[in-house]
Amino acid sequence: MRKPMSLPFRAGLLLVLWWALSTACLAQPAITIDDFFSEMPAAPAMTLFEDASAKLPFEQVRDHATFVPVGTRNTSFGFSKSVWWVRLELRNATTTDREVALRQDYPLIDYLDLWSQDAAGQWQVIRTGDRLPFASRPIANRDFVFPLRIAAGQTRTVYLRFETSGSLNMGLTLSSPHRLLETISLEQLAYGFYFGGFCVLFFYNLFIFIAVRDRAFFFYLAYAASYGLYFGVHDGLSFQFLWPDSPRWANQSLLVLLCLSLLSGLLFTRHFLSTREHSPRLDRAAFALQILSLVGLAASFVLPYAVLIQPVAYVTIAAVFVMMALGVIGVIQGYRPAIYFMLAWFALLVGVLIYMFKTFGLLPHNPLTQNGFQAGALLEMVLLSLALAARVNELHRQTLTDALTSLSNRRYFDRQLELFFAHSREGAVALLVIDLDHFKRINDTYGHARGDEVLVELSRLLRTQVPAGATVCRYGGEEFSIILPSSSLADAQRVAGNIRAAVEKRFAGRLPVTVSIGLASTAEHRFINEAEFFEAADGALYRAKELGRNRVETYAPAA
Ligand code: GH3
Ligand code: MG
Ligand code: MG
Repeated sequence: MRKPMSLPFRAGLLLVLWWALSTACLAQPAITIDDFFSEMPAAPAMTLFEDASAKLPFEQVRDHATFVPVGTRNTSFGFSKSVWWVRLELRNATTTDREVALRQDYPLIDYLDLWSQDAAGQWQVIRTGDRLPFASRPIANRDFVFPLRIAAGQTRTVYLRFETSGSLNMGLTLSSPHRLLETISLEQLAYGFYFGGFCVLFFYNLFIFIAVRDRAFFFYLAYAASYGLYFGVHDGLSFQFLWPDSPRWANQSLLVLLCLSLLSGLLFTRHFLSTREHSPRLDRAAFALQILSLVGLAASFVLPYAVLIQPVAYVTIAAVFVMMALGVIGVIQGYRPAIYFMLAWFALLVGVLIYMFKTFGLLPHNPLTQNGFQAGALLEMVLLSLALAARVNELHRQTLTDALTSLSNRRYFDRQLELFFAHSREGAVALLVIDLDHFKRINDTYGHARGDEVLVELSRLLRTQVPAGATVCRYGGEEFSIILPSSSLADAQRVAGNIRAAVEKRFAGRLPVTVSIGLASTAEHRFINEAEFFEAADGALYRAKELGRNRVETYAPAA
């Protein structure tokens, strides 16, 4: 049997326990402002009180509420219907009066009130929050910054009251005015770069849109504008600079811009990747999501943020998956601009992942990880702008390409001939004009489709038969032309002869396909212009036809 503890011993133990418990609950370490003070997060020193009724007046909370230390607890509370009170003790350990600034670094708080005692010991309140006009803030800043004055040697208690329908993130920092000035000037520079980037992208693409009138640019503009403004709202800058007197809109704008960016993002994707033709089923899903974002947009006028944000978040996730799937399909189908499109999404995803890893403590908390999502979004916009440029190039390329054979078309040929002819003094240029022999018979005998196949097969063969630097074009119908830069007459004749022989060999025994080729070279004759040059090669082709076809004839100037 165990021996019972003696009474005095038990009493002593209880006393120690009571002391330990009471200090744990009641002792609140004050933030000490000494001569070296510059900045300090408030969380370790602050205590919290949750008012679930959201109704208690200040005096009652001050006099009767039990505040508990934050400890290691996360001060992001998500969506909370309660009012959260913060109490902070600030001790000025220096021999002069001190100004300090208390900053709440998440600006989307509906109502934020601060109570502090003035020099006469009277409680003074500053009532602000993003449901009140911007001018309610003691210092005009995107964040809430409260200046506090503490007399030499004094300890001051301040109370803060947080009430918000959105996500409640507490991020309180106490800093000296000097430190605040340094921090904010750096921040403003970074924000200037960031939103400056958005503005440059916007105007650059606006001018291109005015020039090319491609709707993809318009959707991009809407996407970039709503995305940029969304982050502006998130950072508190839109409220400060764009609509400081419209707190109602300031709160609604977050949802409106989110829905608008979804809508324009989906429109952009569908148009950019021509998804209606290439993946009609996913395209319909994207269209349905567009409708949902419109519904969300309309609903934001009647339903509160807290109710709508969750369904909108689901639509966002679905939209991201659909847009990425469409991009992957585009890449698989070999559409070049889709590669840029996917790169852009990849950049955004990396940004989001960095941000999430930071949130889960897998990456350190620094300005880059903290703003990973935002940085990724700007990078996405830059890459999408490049994607648009790639698309314009692609469209341009298509206007110079023959659809059946993928060879360059006549428009391209005319341009190239002019170009090479202009430089023909520097090195001889040869021109081959190639025409299929009795091709009408092939069509008549084997059908037009078979004729097309012959044209495609011949195009591939021509490509393999020419030296590097040559331009192979489908001039029209069953006629082809080849520009051979810097080649002597003998070289050109050899190439032409090889082509003729290769065609004959390729189709031998299968189809009666042969070609006649007319050749002209600036090495032999000085032509007045490229039209005369072409006439010469064409004339030679006619002679080849007259002389029995399946042969090469070279232009010879009349003596
Ligand atoms: P020649 O040896 O004198 O050149 O005789 P030809 O039959 O080749 O010449 P002609 O100019 O009389 O006819 C050209 C034919 O080429 C007529 C047309 O049906 C055919 N053709 C032109 N373009 C295409 C095409 O894109 N596909 C197919 N299948 N046939 C084409
Ligand atoms: Mg022909
Ligand atoms: Mg012809």
